[in-house]
Amino acid sequence: MPELPEVETVVRALRPSVVGQRINRVNFPTPSKSLTNMAQDSLALALTGCTISAIDRRAKYMLFSVPTHVQPFQTLMIHLKMTGHLYLVAAGGTHPQDRWLRAEFLFGSGQAMRFADPRRFGRVYLANNPVDLLPELGPEPIDPAFTLPDLVGRLAGRKAPLKALLLDQSFVSGIGNIYADEALHIAGLHPLRPANSLTEAEAAALFAAMRQALEDGIRHEGASIGSYRKPDGSRGASQNHFRAYRTRENADLPCPVCAGPISTIRVAGRGTHFCPTCQPPPKSDTNKGKRNKKSNS
Ligand SMILES: [Zn+2]
Repeated sequence: MPELPEVETVVRALRPSVVGQRINRVNFPTPSKSLTNMAQDSLALALTGCTISAIDRRAKYMLFSVPTHVQPFQTLMIHLKMTGHLYLVAAGGTHPQDRWLRAEFLFGSGQAMRFADPRRFGRVYLANNPVDLLPELGPEPIDPAFTLPDLVGRLAGRKAPLKALLLDQSFVSGIGNIYADEALHIAGLHPLRPANSLTEAEAAALFAAMRQALEDGIRHEGASIGSYRKPDGSRGASQNHFRAYRTRENADLPCPVCAGPISTIRVAGRGTHFCPTCQPPPKSDTNKGKRNKKSNS
């Protein structure tokens, strides 16, 4: 699933071409109740004649500001979910993604922005206030307003394994499976470490690592390991710089720090990759392992 760096890359790529565009028409080629938060023809009608004044991002959500005379703060939210893809074409033109076309926004310039989504989990929602569109979202690690004391406060009293917390969008937002594994490797923290077991230095390392993982991801324009592509169809390069995250293609790559093998476990239902040398297991886990060994012998 596209995470913060992938969505940020899409937003940055679209912004110069899309901001200032007047929406002349909106088409939904396939009826779907789950795609939109209101009847498709009502959503299309509400957007017709609007000019996109800004594109922003909150966590993994794209927010298009589409003010009208009646509703000054109208926001169109698009979430790519698993396989969504946004791209620009000349109106009437064709694109390889068109076979999965879910929504088309025809602009006054003669261009069209299309949303294609083979798996159909993506969403196109419209509301007056972005807050009405978004679930409870924690702070973004790359937000300058997010500080180390904020993180320490959020970790306190939480027994959940770090990996599970990083995936929890109400704890911090924008991090998914890839950048959680990357951040924990940068920080040298085992994914099963209970959040409340971190020392001050470890919390500081995690704080810096989350930021670094996401900023590296943005710099490399996202990870094209699944269906994610930039709006122009080209691939991001983050997958060429993975430290711990592994796919079938790079499964045998060693740890870039110690050259040892990367281990895979399941945490919070997700495949989780880490270096057992650079990210030592939690102390209680080590004891458990020793006790098990004794009882087995
Ligand atoms: Zn290592």
